[in-house]
Amino acid sequence: MTDIDTTIFGKIVRREIPADIVFENDDLIAFRDIAPSAPVHVLFVPKTPIASLDAARPEHAELLGKLMLAAADYARAQGFAQDGYRVVMNCGAHAGQTVFQVHLHLLAGTALGGFGA
Ligand code: 5GP
Repeated sequence: MTDIDTTIFGKIVRREIPADIVFENDDLIAFRDIAPSAPVHVLFVPKTPIASLDAARPEHAELLGKLMLAAADYARAQGFAQDGYRVVMNCGAHAGQTVFQVHLHLLAGTALGGFGA
């Protein structure tokens, strides 16, 4: 099992490397993507180690739900929910997952054509 502590996101949680953190609670952290694909590109990351969606188990259901709702709450609080936004979770190498700790991409701030991040 990949541990969030061994990933770049673990370093962000521990403040070992800088990040533009926009939200944090006991369960998760959210920060701006270092290479944004849209005007708004925020990553929502649970603090519990889950390498990918494929590694998620029934005991993670509540946490994954909180991750989704945190993204929706953020979109509403920032005032762009009514314009629309996209959430994406890459799972595995063929999907382009590069950091093996589950994370949700929130993309917004422009009309997002087509499908994908
Ligand atoms: P994935 O490709 O695994 O779905 O998404 C990983 C994301 O993490 C990428 O969009 C990448 O730009 C972002 N990322 C990688 N390293 C860092 C970092 O050190 N800081 C921040 N803020 N984002 C990062």
